Amino acid sequence: MTPSTPDPKNPENAAAGLIARIRRSGAADAALVSAADICVEDDLARHCREPRCENYGRSPGCPPHVSGPAGFRRLLKGYHRALAVRIDVPTRILLAPERRDVLALLHDIVADAERAAVGMGFANARAFAGGACKRLFCRDHAECRVLASGGTCRHPDRARPSMSGFGINVSQLMKAAGWQGEYLDPNAPAENSGMSWIAGLILLD
Ligand code: SF4
Repeated sequence: MTPSTPDPKNPENAAAGLIARIRRSGAADAALVSAADICVEDDLARHCREPRCENYGRSPGCPPHVSGPAGFRRLLKGYHRALAVRIDVPTRILLAPERRDVLALLHDIVADAERAAVGMGFANARAFAGGACKRLFCRDHAECRVLASGGTCRHPDRARPSMSGFGINVSQLMKAAGWQGEYLDPNAPAENSGMSWIAGLILLD
């Protein structure tokens, strides 16, 4: 067995390596969660189209181009464990244009962790982020190249599907990871620097 291959007798070692890598990449934390604890809700995915998100239909990582809650539930049946990822962000940043930079960082972190996981032997690792890649990476282009012409993604090493379109309950994911589940602190006025978070997910094995 090479040093980069997960030890099946102690898979936590491999996961711990990924968690350390994610933390070094700029996340506040990462944690192993059971795939069985990932909650998927049809109503959450419905918010993408009612009221319609401005990113609806504009990238392959958003509805209606993703398999949605039903597809994600099917996908989950093939997994036992996942990594939850959290980036802590001042609430005022989440409500400002700089939000895009933080969401882009989230995509970068989970995409990097996915690649690293595959390299460690988690062949089916799949990463999900928050925020639409069209808005984050291709906002200066009229259209997504994949959807417009069947071409290749302009940012395959960065863009990952958004959890929203699959109905993943991110607050529940946070709780499953042992973290606070509230997204925006209701006691933190927008103009101050109360903290919130954004989250990502890597299905591991
Ligand atoms: S080209 Fe890639 S990054 Fe750009 S919108 Fe399409 S899928 Fe997203």
